[in-house]
Amino acid sequence: RSRAKIIEAERPTTRFDDIAGYGGVKQEISEVVDYLRSPARYAAAGAKGPRGVIMVGPPGTGKTLLARAVAGEADVPFLSVTGSAFVEMFVGVGASRVRDLFDDARKRAPSIIFIDEIDAVGSRRSGVRLGGNDEREQTLNQLLAEMDGFDESTGIVVLAATNRPEALDPALLRPGRFDRQVTVPLPNQAERAAILAVHARGKVLAPDVDLDAVARATPGFSGADLANLVNEAAINAVRADRSIIGAEDLDAARDRVLLGRRETSNALL
Ligand code: ATP
Repeated sequence: RSRAKIIEAERPTTRFDDIAGYGGVKQEISEVVDYLRSPARYAAAGAKGPRGVIMVGPPGTGKTLLARAVAGEADVPFLSVTGSAFVEMFVGVGASRVRDLFDDARKRAPSIIFIDEIDAVGSRRSGVRLGGNDEREQTLNQLLAEMDGFDESTGIVVLAATNRPEALDPALLRPGRFDRQVTVPLPNQAERAAILAVHARGKVLAPDVDLDAVARATPGFSGADLANLVNEAAINAVRADRSIIGAEDLDAARDRVLLGRRETSNALL
């Protein structure tokens, strides 16, 4: 079994500019960028930099995008892993994979580790020791031990994402671990318009297209839904043998995305 499958190291070129809206969130997380650009400055002052930041928000709100943008802004390697992959794919070796991950990050430091779906590893320990949970507990304990071992000069920041903050083990949130939380909510109307504009870059829109009107008509849409909507609109235009996207393409795309969301939520029932 290849390790590369769950741990991916890359150097993202994503920047804060690629993320529409969320000025407050970018501001909060820019401290991480500052630290990663020069951990030595923090070490010289005896200051502990940020170690762990948990991003909390519904699916598709751009948490992964934000993590990649932090790496892009700081120009550091980005090692990403999904919590459920740790637990499911490597029964019996979850803890050693965590060790590998941190070893790798230390070699590449300054660097970012991104753990998506951290709740899969870090949900509340039940106290009841059932076979399956044991594995998760060892993985979680290793993660905590690695983070406790950071010092001023380690130069690694662990970013994690979840949409179930209430499920997290309180041990994760203690000082020196994930002691910072950033909320990434669904976009408001103005943010939806800005996200639509980002995804319309490089596409030709007909003069009758009004992205503000589309934003008004899409309450509850996430950034991922909006990206999807713009792409569906472009596909709709291609099907009609046009290279210019019209208002009717966006209307049709909105209906399709809405329908898709309804089907997904029905499937979950
Ligand atoms: P999940 O919790 O499902 O993993 P997520 O919060 O990590 O979702 P991303 O995967 O980062 O969400 O976002 C999905 C896609 O949605 C992005 O790749 C991007 O195309 C688009 N997107 C989301 N938010 C924004 C935004 N603020 N600006 C521009 N694009 C966005």
